Amino acid sequence: MGDPGVKSHTVLVVDDEANVRSFYVDALEESGHSVSIASTGEEALEQLREGSLPCVVLTDVRMPGMDGFELSRAIAEDPQLASIPIVVMTGDKILSFSSPARDKPFSVAELDALVQRSCSLHRVSSAASAQVGGGP
Ligand SMILES: [Zn+2]
Repeated sequence: MGDPGVKSHTVLVVDDEANVRSFYVDALEESGHSVSIASTGEEALEQLREGSLPCVVLTDVRMPGMDGFELSRAIAEDPQLASIPIVVMTGDKILSFSSPARDKPFSVAELDALVQRSCSLHRVSSAASAQVGGGP
């Protein structure tokens, strides 16, 4: 803690379970990140479209309404949001083997490492950054 070499990032946590959200918020804040939360995919998209763009989105797979995969598709299809890395996570071991979702991290260190790895945009976050074409 308090390591001056560690970058702090902005993270959007999307999970329908309040206790999971508060675990992530506590853990990420402990690592020095700023965290915003959404309890549904729809709410997450709304926040993103209002212009509060995080370094990375961490989303649960199973949520009422839009699920984590649908959310990541919606983000990828929106030219304003497509550059945001999104990590789809599941607490379901079977799903983590059979889908692109990854295991939910359970420790502060694991979660911090995931955020540090995922935030590759931090250095190029200026508005001048080139738009890399990936088709419409
Ligand atoms: Zn960052």
